[in-house]
Amino acid sequence: MTYLTKLASPMGPLSLASDGDSILGLWLEGQKYFAAGLEAETEERPDLPVFLQASAWLDAYFEKRNLPPLPPLAPKGSAFRQRVWKLLLEIPFGETATYGGLTEKLKASGVSASPQAVGGAVGHNPISIIIPCHRVVGSDGSLTGYAGGVKKKRFLLELEGVDLSRLYTPKRETARMFLPTAVHERAPAPGQMPPEPPPAPGKFPCPCCGCKTFPVPKEDALAYICPVCLWENDVFDPGEDQPSDENRGMTLAEGREAYKKLGAVREEFLKYARKPLPEELP
Ligand SMILES: [Zn+2]
Repeated sequence: MTYLTKLASPMGPLSLASDGDSILGLWLEGQKYFAAGLEAETEERPDLPVFLQASAWLDAYFEKRNLPPLPPLAPKGSAFRQRVWKLLLEIPFGETATYGGLTEKLKASGVSASPQAVGGAVGHNPISIIIPCHRVVGSDGSLTGYAGGVKKKRFLLELEGVDLSRLYTPKRETARMFLPTAVHERAPAPGQMPPEPPPAPGKFPCPCCGCKTFPVPKEDALAYICPVCLWENDVFDPGEDQPSDENRGMTLAEGREAYKKLGAVREEFLKYARKPLPEELP
């Protein structure tokens, strides 16, 4: 049984879920992954002690009073994600961390990790606000994806007094920023360094073309662009028939069609695309 309640907040209604003892989830309205992985059977229980405790904590948070102890938390996820969520709880109020910084911390404690995998774990945090995934920013200062929306991330950081002047909101042009260099642009000018060798074949299938070009599973491949079809992976995977933020509104179904017809998800990307290696073929 999953117990549910709704609380009013300055950010609009918050939905909370509990197993009776601990908080399992806290979602903002319209958040991606809402109630992901919860038992289907639910019951509204606003009087549950753990909900009252969470409510008191949230009131203090939004009013910037001294925070009472955290309610017991039991987010569901892999061992790796649990490690990352624990690290997030260590980022103090009013401070920020980067994906790269968190990755280094994990490595220092003996956990092998990539910033992409960390980004996937941060993006899938089921207990918004209390587990402060909003305090993670790109190493270039970008306010990268927040499952509750970048506007809400800004709101939380502002509330905590973070200096937002050094942070910026990325435009929906990420695909261009991360595009691999076109093959013809890689040729070195005389006297220059030789071009970088092509990246090693991936191990995991691209959700669009199906070729094994992904270095990590798609759930963890933050801002990864498939070198074969140029689909930009969306870790906040909206489903096959819903527009993907990372691909400027294109759906995965449209991306697949385009790849079949053109050889890339968009015609203007064709010059950047490369043929799949034999070992990458689906
Ligand atoms: Zn692909």
